[in-house]
Amino acid sequence: MEARLRQADKMQALGTMAGGVAHDFNNLLTAILGSLQLAERRVGGEEAGLRRLMRNAAMAAERGSALTRRLLAFSRQNELALRAVAVNQLILGMGDLLARTLGGMVMVRRELGANPGTAMVDPGQLELALLNLCINARDAMPGGGTITLSTADVTVDEQAVPDLAAGSYVRVSVADTGTGMTPEVLARVFEPFFTTKEVGKGTGLGLPMVYGLVRQSGGGLTIESVPDQGTQVHLYLPAGHGEVVRDRVEPHDAPLARE
Ligand code: ADP
Repeated sequence: MEARLRQADKMQALGTMAGGVAHDFNNLLTAILGSLQLAERRVGGEEAGLRRLMRNAAMAAERGSALTRRLLAFSRQNELALRAVAVNQLILGMGDLLARTLGGMVMVRRELGANPGTAMVDPGQLELALLNLCINARDAMPGGGTITLSTADVTVDEQAVPDLAAGSYVRVSVADTGTGMTPEVLARVFEPFFTTKEVGKGTGLGLPMVYGLVRQSGGGLTIESVPDQGTQVHLYLPAGHGEVVRDRVEPHDAPLARE
């Protein structure tokens, strides 16, 4: 079943607004952290209880700051550095990262198309997006299962994929054998902060971020999900050649991946 993409566009606008708030909020948290650190230094050694309270407050502020940085990354205040990326190579290069992040309960299979061309996308952001999708897949398979990463060159006809222009794309798919999603959940997955995960585990920013990335790259995204069978996320990345770098490349210090 196709997720509702137009709704997602509205949510993207909301995300941009949230990004502005996150920016200001992060400045406030920085001020709070700075003051707490100064105060902590002035508290005498005999005030262990007070120190502990201040440490707790500082830790909460740090967590808040990490969350706002994720929000900023999601709302994409940073320009993308679009390049012609050899997607198969990028996926092969993620082996260690995936093994470390996903743990031992899931098996990762690759079904890489024999000759997928290059896709015009920001390679660092694509890696982050795939990592997020794999983490979602793992979380949907608490008892273990298989994640299949596949690639293919595809030609998309007019209106074959919602909101996607006809043309050549590299399709990257992440499939899992997990819980799948009900239609109600699927309809909401692009809403910022929508999560069914317990507090501290999910931020609800993973799929909106992935969706934002592919749309900004001129591509599209579809999700098929069947309860109790699994989920397939397909990214359509515009096929391209040569190197185009738009604006400066920002280091992304705020990966959306959850540990
Ligand atoms: P988060 O992972 O932080 O919850 P996301 O935006 O990545 O945020 O995902 C939103 C929700 O979509 C998840 O909480 C989950 O309910 C659902 N979801 C995403 N990916 C999958 C998947 N592969 N299988 C089942 N449900 C999924």
